[in-house]
Amino acid sequence: MTTASGRDGRLDRAAVLAWLRQDDPAALETLWAEADAVRHAHVGDAVHLRGLVEVSNHCVRQCTYCGIRAGNRNLARYRMTADEVLDCARRIADLGYGTIVMQAGEDFGLTGPWVADLVARIKATTPLAVTLSLGERLPDELRAWRQAGADRYLLRFETSDKALFDRIHPPRHGQSVPRWDLLGLLRDLGYEVGSGVMVGIPGQTWDSLADDVMRFAGMDLDMIGVGPYIPHPDTPLAAVHGDGPDQVPADATTACKVVALARLVRPDANIPATTALGTIDRAHGRELGLRRGANILMPNVTPDRYKACYEIYPDKAALGD
Ligand code: SAH
Repeated sequence: MTTASGRDGRLDRAAVLAWLRQDDPAALETLWAEADAVRHAHVGDAVHLRGLVEVSNHCVRQCTYCGIRAGNRNLARYRMTADEVLDCARRIADLGYGTIVMQAGEDFGLTGPWVADLVARIKATTPLAVTLSLGERLPDELRAWRQAGADRYLLRFETSDKALFDRIHPPRHGQSVPRWDLLGLLRDLGYEVGSGVMVGIPGQTWDSLADDVMRFAGMDLDMIGVGPYIPHPDTPLAAVHGDGPDQVPADATTACKVVALARLVRPDANIPATTALGTIDRAHGRELGLRRGANILMPNVTPDRYKACYEIYPDKAALGD
């Protein structure tokens, strides 16, 4: 193969799978170079900065991979006040970033009206785009937040392998709308929609990862976030070791392959070099992401007194300090 996409310029599932399994560094240079060229041609050379505010680490869910899951008792819980979030928004605007990303556990203490009011205040007092990443909330809440001015919503589908997803992400009692359907609803409500996956979840196979990449294309995503899975010792999944012959490794090179392939199948998407990538390879992770298809960085502007408690995985790399 001389180009990553093959002769007709299209990347089919077989080619995606072959690239995912490719482990010859010289061959992979072709993939990195093509992802970089497509990034340059479609979204230019600017690296866009989004200020990340981790608004609350309360969570009602029991996701087996995530350190802020409800079942983790070894964690001090916090919820920021609206004024604290507004202070962060002003700081983000002063730093010259274009977007505030408000992320949290699935915390119904952040009530629908509270979030709507906060979004409206940020839109009224700053020039920022507002991105929400608050988990699987009710359709009426998502609608109200959009009406209040929220621009974008991030909700990763984590893996397209349904059996694996159900194992790592148990449904909430009484929940009516599954994550997949919420992604369609968000699109219908007029949000720009971001999604993505973790790479190297125990039990994740190369085939399912190829399906994930094909979904990026099929779903018309505006943003695609991809990072390696990082075990958190206070979670059930940390005790599970994926060691089958088809197990995807949770390493930086594999995560970069998914970033590069995401760029090739969605040339215009906004793709971050994620904190998780910067965490497993502190020296080079984020730079490699940016050279292999990514065009976004998300500096963490959460106040220091809360930052350490938003521990979705251990030793999160600090960017923006
Ligand atoms: N409650 C929100 C935000 C979750 S944190 C939601 O569920 O959408 C944002 C992302 O961090 C998750 O979607 C997941 O992909 C990632 N994440 C969580 N735990 C992780 C871990 N142990 N290793 C790597 N990424 C993780």
